[in-house]
Amino acid sequence: MNLSDNVKTIKGIGDKTVKLLEKLGIFTVSDILEHYPRDYDEFLIPAPINTAQEGKIIAVEGVISRLTSRAGRKHIITCYVSDTSGALKLVWFNQPYLVKLLKPGYRYLFRGMVKRDNAELAINQPKMYQRNEYIRLLNNLQPIYDLTKGITSNFISKAVHEALHDIEIEDNLPAAFRKTNNLMKRQEAIKIIHFPKSKQEALLARRRLVFDEFTEFLTALRELQSKKNEELNRYPITSYEECDKLLCKLPFELTLAQQKAWVDITRDLSSKTLMSRMVEGDVGSGKTIIAMLAVLATVKAGFQAAVMVPTEVLAKQHYEEFNQRLSEFGVKTELLVGSQTAASKKKIYAKAVSKEIDVIIGTHALIQEGLEFNCLGLAVIDEQHRFGVNQRKALKEKGLKPHILSMSATPIPRSLSLILYGDMDLSVINELPKERLPIKNCVVDTSYRPTAFNFIRNEVKNGHQAYIICPMVEESEDMGGENVTDYTETLKEYYQMAALKAGDGLNISVEYLHGKMKAQEKNEVMERFVSGQIQVLVSTTVVEVGVNVKNATVMMIENAERFGLAQLHQLRGRVGRGADQSYCIFMKGCAGKEIDERLDILKNNNNGFKVAEEDLRLRGPGDIFGIRQSGELSWKLADIYADADLLSLASEFVKDTTGTK
Ligand code: ADP
Ligand code: MG
Repeated sequence: MNLSDNVKTIKGIGDKTVKLLEKLGIFTVSDILEHYPRDYDEFLIPAPINTAQEGKIIAVEGVISRLTSRAGRKHIITCYVSDTSGALKLVWFNQPYLVKLLKPGYRYLFRGMVKRDNAELAINQPKMYQRNEYIRLLNNLQPIYDLTKGITSNFISKAVHEALHDIEIEDNLPAAFRKTNNLMKRQEAIKIIHFPKSKQEALLARRRLVFDEFTEFLTALRELQSKKNEELNRYPITSYEECDKLLCKLPFELTLAQQKAWVDITRDLSSKTLMSRMVEGDVGSGKTIIAMLAVLATVKAGFQAAVMVPTEVLAKQHYEEFNQRLSEFGVKTELLVGSQTAASKKKIYAKAVSKEIDVIIGTHALIQEGLEFNCLGLAVIDEQHRFGVNQRKALKEKGLKPHILSMSATPIPRSLSLILYGDMDLSVINELPKERLPIKNCVVDTSYRPTAFNFIRNEVKNGHQAYIICPMVEESEDMGGENVTDYTETLKEYYQMAALKAGDGLNISVEYLHGKMKAQEKNEVMERFVSGQIQVLVSTTVVEVGVNVKNATVMMIENAERFGLAQLHQLRGRVGRGADQSYCIFMKGCAGKEIDERLDILKNNNNGFKVAEEDLRLRGPGDIFGIRQSGELSWKLADIYADADLLSLASEFVKDTTGTK
């Protein structure tokens, strides 16, 4: 078996499961081996019932009583389990067959996530275990994977196990180097990350895999870098008259930091060598207008420009903004995204070659498709993933050598930026427009939810909009946590009731958005939110990148403890983009001192650099599992902040092996 083989070559995987796995982005053997656990579930000795804590998984053993079973829209079974310390409510939905298995007065072992059920604590959908069965699981770490309906964690475990049996993974690290740096063999690391005996072991395995992720990234980066200084500027741009006109027409003045970045860019564009510049600025600092100026200058000098963004939603939004501001300057802009028909794409291709189009805005896939330019002078890579290395590589492979302007909201400490941006010049936009009011933050627990709902209702009444973020798309069997689908239903009902109670007939449109929806559906929902037809958008983190809806004033994040601070900061950046006062509500799904400490960082800092710094200071090496890093930042495992030492090590290693600097 080879890493690049289709997953179907793994025993036990058939055509039907192949389709499901594709939804998770798994196509090859390598993909499934690198579908690393998000976290591990640890089976501990059953605990006294009175130690149950909201948001925590608990195993309890006791006698059951007060069993009720009720059919309705949902079939509901409830009972209580008690030991000498107390009693806890258990609830099952739609599992009527359990009635026969649960006998009041008998002892059972249950395990599940503790939730608040009105005034009392309860376990929803607890799993029931035989004692022997549970003892076998004791102290085991069970991997938890990102899943989709029809694929269980167990299924993935089995497939990984099968694949590892039939494959030999090459190791490109010399044994001596591995030994000195405490890096295990790759094959071993992959096995252990899926089936660790302890957290310690999992961390060691992770160390090797993170090293590999960095090495791969840095190798690609160095390759780009080695050529940079030889590239002569074939698209010199010297006139900025039209740009000055555009600046005069804007309803605002550039901040000093924006002006500085713009001066840097104009200097690059007219210099002897090609521009390769990164503009780094916190969310909402106004990077788009800087890109627009560069695009206008390029077009007016007679060249074409491409703007690449991570999502279709963002592409559409940029397209509208560019069109609105640049069409009066005679700039012809087109949108090119995956959901367009083949026919309309073909038309755009033809116009790009004949130079009937000046600017093309699309997703990062833009350059990988059949698109050819007449004279591409500038490529803008906005909100880029992994610092745009892949996009830049793709441009190069097509033989295109335009000026490159990258934009990122990822705050990087100076020491790391030298490694990560190695080949690029850097402009930092370190101030926000003056009109902005600082976002007001609060960290609350779930008992505050009704207050929050009413607060949002009031904001909507005043003509504003809100985002609510949940970590999951649908109810998941092994992880508690709010999910977008059920949440939307609950909220709709809540607001209908509230309107009746208040007698104000306020009809709030609540809709959901998540990554598993079809691109078309996602775009539709997002467009309706942008145009104000939807007032409350319940979403997964798909809204995290770049979207600009000035009218949205509330961001509420459920299970805030699940997200990385960098990502929470990105999410918060969706509000506070206009002159209105905005609010961010971080809702904790469970309590704990560390959780409070982390969320307090966000509560007390609205500045992304500060957040990243504090986060790094606070985090220990053991905290790395279970927290999702930001989409923009994330490798599969690596985290540039927490793994800064490995990044340096990989950088040294790549330098030594490739001989470049
Ligand atoms: P980001 O840096 O996150 O990409 P955007 O470029 O989307 O931010 O800008 C956010 C909002 O701020 C936009 O609506 C933009 O028009 C506005 N904006 C940009 N620069 C300024 C400025 N100097 N003064 C006031 N508003 C500005
Ligand atoms: Mg942006």
